[in-house]
Amino acid sequence: MSKQKLASNFERGKRMFEADSTVERITDDLYEVPSESRPGIIHQVIPSLKVCTCENFQRYGEPCKHFYLVQFVRAAAIKTMLAENQVKALSKIAPDGIVGENKKYKIGVIQ
Ligand SMILES: [Zn+2]
Repeated sequence: MSKQKLASNFERGKRMFEADSTVERITDDLYEVPSESRPGIIHQVIPSLKVCTCENFQRYGEPCKHFYLVQFVRAAAIKTMLAENQVKALSKIAPDGIVGENKKYKIGVIQ
């Protein structure tokens, strides 16, 4: 498969992510993505193995748009988790949101 085709799967996955396409996390390493073109069909993605049950993957054996979509969803989840941890860390050192002498830190914003 050409590099152009790979880039296009990446772009298609990115577009699905930006359009808030449905992704269901079954486990850390198993995700389900409903087919865009065929209602009722669910594709299963295993990120660690870079595999998907869709026809595109079966045919080309290359990362498909579902794989990339799942990668975007996982990256977003990690970002959210890190942001939440920062909020937790801040609340430990400054439970009332005030640090030092009237120094106010906005929760969730790194300064
Ligand atoms: Zn797929």
